[in-house]
Amino acid sequence: MDRKIRVTIWDEFRHEKTNEKAKALYPDGMHACIGKYLEQFPEIEVRLAALDDPDQGLPDEVLQNTDVLIWWGHMAHGEVNDALVTKIQRRVYMGKMGFIALHSAHHSKPFRAIVGTMGNLTWGREQKEIMWNLLPTHPIAEGIPQSFYIPEEELYAEPFFIPQPSELIFGGWYEDGYIFRSGMTFIRDAGRIFYFQPGHETCPSYHNPHVLRIIKNAVLWTAPSAPGYEYRDHCPHVVDNLAERIAAGKAKGNMVDPVFAEIGYGK
Ligand code: ZN
Repeated sequence: MDRKIRVTIWDEFRHEKTNEKAKALYPDGMHACIGKYLEQFPEIEVRLAALDDPDQGLPDEVLQNTDVLIWWGHMAHGEVNDALVTKIQRRVYMGKMGFIALHSAHHSKPFRAIVGTMGNLTWGREQKEIMWNLLPTHPIAEGIPQSFYIPEEELYAEPFFIPQPSELIFGGWYEDGYIFRSGMTFIRDAGRIFYFQPGHETCPSYHNPHVLRIIKNAVLWTAPSAPGYEYRDHCPHVVDNLAERIAAGKAKGNMVDPVFAEIGYGK
């Protein structure tokens, strides 16, 4: 694909307005901090979206022009519109958009809807973490050393109630002795998903070069234009001609999922 990867970084953007430490670390929001890093790469185009924006930051026009959606939410998961969640889930399942869930997005509606479990975990005080690179041959681990040190992160600990990941790429070890599956992929229908643990709002993790590099690698890997994207490469007609296929089916009286129409299939 010759055009840029269109990345929308969605942030709840509430902590950064109310919590002094979060505000000091991320005065324009965590999404702006990540966006500033990503937009330096010529192959990436960044858009920022927040919960309190019109249409919760994701009107259809934005969603239909997003190749990768990055999601950070925490205190207001419940406020996210269920209809929007369904649109996100369908777009990911159709292979039209990759999804990256950051930190407390493990409990977000879109992450739960996409992977299919509650995403519960154990958490605790902020402390030192060592991030281990468990799968250095994976594209998401490109440029990442065997391990790196995160001076301060909120403890996330196992058991983490997720489906068995497709690939477990990073593992976190914490000062208090706990471990966590910190970075992993899922494949759902034609969609690629990456979950990544760092990013508590009062910790500087989105200023850490390794954390940022992993997010960038994940953008390239989850984007439908990624090399080796197995579904699109092997049966591109299934996704690309979906509008025609659905229209033809409808004409014959076939049942059609109404959400396909709402999310602008075929665009
Ligand atoms: Zn947190």
